Amino acid sequence: MFGRSRRNLARWFTLSMGSILVVFAGLVYHLEVADTLLALDQLLYKQTKVMAASVNYERRDGKWEVDLENVPLLGNNLQPQDSELVYARWYDAQGQLVQFFGIPPTKHLRLTSEFETIKIANDQILGIGTKSWLRQVTLPVYEKGVLIGYLQVATGLLSSQAKLDNFRLFLTLAVPVTLGIISLAGWFLGGLAMRPIRQTYDQLQRFTANASHELRTPLAAILTNAQVGLLSDDNSQQRLRLEKVVDVTKSMSSLVSNLLFLARNDGSLSPECVKEIDLTILLQDLADNYATQAAAQNLNFASNLLTKSVEVQADADLLRQAVMNLLSNACKYTPAGGQVQLQLFTRSRLAIIQVSDTGIGISSADLPHIFERFYRADSDRSRAKGGFGLGLAIAQQIVAAHKGRIYVSSVVGQGSTFQIELPLKLNS
Ligand code: ADP
Repeated sequence: MFGRSRRNLARWFTLSMGSILVVFAGLVYHLEVADTLLALDQLLYKQTKVMAASVNYERRDGKWEVDLENVPLLGNNLQPQDSELVYARWYDAQGQLVQFFGIPPTKHLRLTSEFETIKIANDQILGIGTKSWLRQVTLPVYEKGVLIGYLQVATGLLSSQAKLDNFRLFLTLAVPVTLGIISLAGWFLGGLAMRPIRQTYDQLQRFTANASHELRTPLAAILTNAQVGLLSDDNSQQRLRLEKVVDVTKSMSSLVSNLLFLARNDGSLSPECVKEIDLTILLQDLADNYATQAAAQNLNFASNLLTKSVEVQADADLLRQAVMNLLSNACKYTPAGGQVQLQLFTRSRLAIIQVSDTGIGISSADLPHIFERFYRADSDRSRAKGGFGLGLAIAQQIVAAHKGRIYVSSVVGQGSTFQIELPLKLNS
């Protein structure tokens, strides 16, 4: 399932990035073509301008005449060795051909636009290489504001074409290589994206397996007790079995409530339940309850709370549940004669609730795991005390929903201290 999702992610990533890449490469090629043409046009224009500047317009025998003698290519001057020009033509102001160099032109000027890309038949260019695509400029020439003729010049596009061919070849090779790199990156990123999903899925599976396992044991106990009770004619025996069924059902119901709690309060608080609460009052209430319970277990219970009010924004019921889980554990894992203490104090912008005991403590190997769901340091002892390994997970979830933190420090045989830090209400 995860492999398929990863492949799909990589495929879509490659497809989307690939499309962007192809469009981008097309755009770059288009810009390169436009750039090359512009550079060529500028050069051609400059050369034509130089030629136009050599045209003489003079009065002979009372008539104004155009003299092309000094115009390169058209005059008697030699063609410059490095000239790329394929042809040069001079048309008079009426568009009639007067003189030309290179390919024979049409007799009359066809003026569509100043710059043109034209294709000429191969037989026309016999003797001037294989230039079949030409760039042509047609420039009107003026003398003192009077149009005296048109100069038409063309150059081959071969070298520009070769340059563009090379660029196209580069793009044709670079695009698939980049696509390959993109698909590898997609595969890698797909793996990264799947990791938290996989972790959550594994966690959920573990949770479901643990929950089913925990429910199977009491269900088996209920079934056995019910069957034995049914087989027996003895009233007292039947009563004993029914009492056991009631006990196991109570424990099962508490497990189901815990599971529901974890599922429903998944890291978020409902805004209507969040209010300004005074921790001093809330904890004093709890201290009173636990003083009685601790006394019943032969434990010394002490509370050390601030006398002033300590205000936080919280869901009072949830916060009470979190502290109760810590106090219950302290009472559960502290032998008779030991001490359990509840403290409340503030430090900088934090309210700190501390529950400490002088109980059995937690080994350093278990400490990193005790907030995990269903984790029990000593499962037999915990089970015997009615624990499912969910109390601390619930406490942690509640504290995290309040944007707080929970810490533990413990020494085996000496006791444990759990500390909840909550942000104080602003302006308190
Ligand atoms: P449980 O319902 O089993 O107590 P918790 O999630 O509340 O589950 O606690 C997880 C485990 O952490 C317990 O099984 C126990 O081993 C250990 N633990 C929690 N609190 C204490 C404590 N105050 N002293 C010693 N061990 C503790």
